[in-house]
Amino acid sequence: MKKTKKCTKCESTEIFYLESVVDRAHGNNASKLLVGLKNDFWRGKIGGEIEAYICANCGYVEFYLKDPKSLYDSDVAVNVKP
Ligand SMILES: [Zn+2]
Repeated sequence: MKKTKKCTKCESTEIFYLESVVDRAHGNNASKLLVGLKNDFWRGKIGGEIEAYICANCGYVEFYLKDPKSLYDSDVAVNVKP
């Protein structure tokens, strides 16, 4: 959906974009949904930001890591090459 702007499930072109996805933490505080990429001694897990494309017809949601190249610097994510 990111490139085609067309739903891969129902083929609708009513696609909405979310720059970030909200997560809820302690005390119901809003924070951005992140993928943990590094363990930092002072800051804990440092993550990559997630963006989403949502079909307004069927509700299908696709998530993307905004900076996929950051995976190569990760000490948490594992490359699963065949
Ligand atoms: Zn759809």
